[in-house]
Amino acid sequence: MITAAPARTPEKAVLPLPADRWQAHWRQAIRDPAELLALLGLGAEDLGVSAQALAQFPLRVPRGFVARMRPADPADPLLRQVLPIDAEMQVVPGFSFDAVGDGDARKATGVIQKYRGRALLVATGSCAIHCRYCFRRHFDYAGENAAKGGWQEAIDAIAADAGIDEVILSGGDPLSLATSKLAELTDALAAIPHLKRLRIHSRLPVVLPERVDDSLVQWLAALPWPVAFVIHANHANEFDASVDTALARLRGTGAQLLNQAVLLRGINDDLDSLAALSERSFAAGVLPYYLHQLDRVQGVAHFEVSDEQALALHAGLMARLSGYLVPKLVREIAGDTSKRPL
Ligand SMILES: *Cc1c(COP(=O)(O)O)cnc(C)c1O
Ligand code: SF4
Repeated sequence: MITAAPARTPEKAVLPLPADRWQAHWRQAIRDPAELLALLGLGAEDLGVSAQALAQFPLRVPRGFVARMRPADPADPLLRQVLPIDAEMQVVPGFSFDAVGDGDARKATGVIQKYRGRALLVATGSCAIHCRYCFRRHFDYAGENAAKGGWQEAIDAIAADAGIDEVILSGGDPLSLATSKLAELTDALAAIPHLKRLRIHSRLPVVLPERVDDSLVQWLAALPWPVAFVIHANHANEFDASVDTALARLRGTGAQLLNQAVLLRGINDDLDSLAALSERSFAAGVLPYYLHQLDRVQGVAHFEVSDEQALALHAGLMARLSGYLVPKLVREIAGDTSKRPL
């Protein structure tokens, strides 16, 4: 049957992007604490939200991550990772601005080398989410990322040192770069004969799983080295079906998936949370790698867990879980030759 064409509705000036375009999800991230709390049915009064902390390190959280928070729960472990609060403004002795010695380990613009064989490339300063505990909240992103220098200085430094066999793409979050940019970088790295492995540290598969799109998967699958892909999840609630899908696609490229978490007071500093994190990670195809003691930077003291409690939690995990589900409990000490086991 032929029907009359329906009356055309006027076209919108800007067409919405298809739902699977990760850049659209990125741009739609929440930046206003009031909006975040309203979405969760929480009032700002009792939460200690701080305009000063917000000004120091802006709020940023993708909507898909917010959807995994429990409504009306001021103690939600995902909310607590992103909400700027008064406690961040306390000046606590022993907490500094460059707690892990990044300034001293700089090898070239955007290249940090602390350990034998591994060069860390600060590929970009951007992140899809701003984690309040982040040791890089004070880092000079604007000047110190390799993308800004057009990669060349970074690539030259890596090419000139035959002792480097692994490049770690880090940041910021390296996957905040367009896949074409990442491909430009790895094409240049592929010409360096002494590289044997590529490692990627990214929180995006967890906080913005839409990032794991076809072009990213194709890029990863075609890389000339074995790839270790380290995700950052601190709590089992960070996983949902969309994250499982993203991780399955990453595994499909042949990458080895690992998780590193930070031990955070009020978020995952209990045995049940840590055990659930390991079990949930493994269910998604990810092996636990590190559980980090917090880096002692200004503004994060309220997240710190004592070494005594950290060791007790780690012993508890060993008594409860299969050995391969127990992450290594470590801390970073400036000047050490590796992460230091507690
Ligand atoms: C943590 C870190 C690494 C990686 O250390 P692994 O123990 O191999 O995971 C490499 N370079 C820098 C600068 C680091 O901070
Ligand atoms: S570098 Fe990692 S921990 Fe820090 S804000 Fe970005 S995603 Fe969060």
